Amino acid sequence: MTQIECTLCPVHGSLRTRGMTFKGTIASARAPKTAVIEVQYLRRVPKYERYEKLRSKIHAHVPECMAVAEGDVVEIAECRKVSKTKAHVVVKIVSKASGAFEEESVHAAKRKKPSRKSAGKG
Ligand SMILES: [Zn+2]
Repeated sequence: MTQIECTLCPVHGSLRTRGMTFKGTIASARAPKTAVIEVQYLRRVPKYERYEKLRSKIHAHVPECMAVAEGDVVEIAECRKVSKTKAHVVVKIVSKASGAFEEESVHAAKRKKPSRKSAGKG
């Protein structure tokens, strides 16, 4: 049995999490042990009594025990500053991105287009 050396990990290491947790999609996983997570959230606009959809990108640390790729949906938690730009750590992979999933989203986008045109009256 080989033991995973995970020092900066909330499960295997001593990295403690606190504060906020976010769920988002991985926008980039190019840098080693790092992932850029895009988080979508709603903010209420009092004047219009509606919500505006906002998104922001959070750089998070990826522990050695986790293998993430672009498009994966992950859960991140706030922790101490790990590097200059990282103060969050990936704690859970919610769903993996796959080819079948991408096809589905393409079909969904195709379906949306004609319905928008037909609804454009008044
Ligand atoms: Zn670990």
